[in-house]
Amino acid sequence: MSFVGKKHSIETIERMRKIKTGKHQTIETKNKLRLLRLGKNNPFYGKHHSDATCKRISENHVDVSNDKNPQWRGDGASYVAIHHWVARHKDKPSFCEMCGEKEPYDLSNVSGEYKRDVNDYQWVCRKCHQVSDGRYERLKNSIWIERLR
Ligand SMILES: [Zn+2]
Repeated sequence: MSFVGKKHSIETIERMRKIKTGKHQTIETKNKLRLLRLGKNNPFYGKHHSDATCKRISENHVDVSNDKNPQWRGDGASYVAIHHWVARHKDKPSFCEMCGEKEPYDLSNVSGEYKRDVNDYQWVCRKCHQVSDGRYERLKNSIWIERLR
């Protein structure tokens, strides 16, 4: 007997809902469900939005780039946000900007003020980054010692 084309009663749906509530699917189950809608199994596979639809989608998505983004906080933006912004806007050189020897791996702030300015950052290798971080750590500590005196 096949269940295809038949529907669960409201009572059955409610009973199944209660059994499932608060439970999580296993990774295997999630993967199976994912594969069910992947590639040619996806209802949108091989289809394209019409020009009219594309236009409607773009009109519904206002430009939120750079200063049009409501999250933009100018110079008051968080360190992490600025870091990401700089990483997107500052070209990564082939070599560390401090030692010029190793491959750069991270952005290091130059002034310690974390400005939204690509010139206030350098692409540095792991070692140079640790060195520059240590420098600021000591600087910060010395400022604290000054304040405590
Ligand atoms: Zn270096």
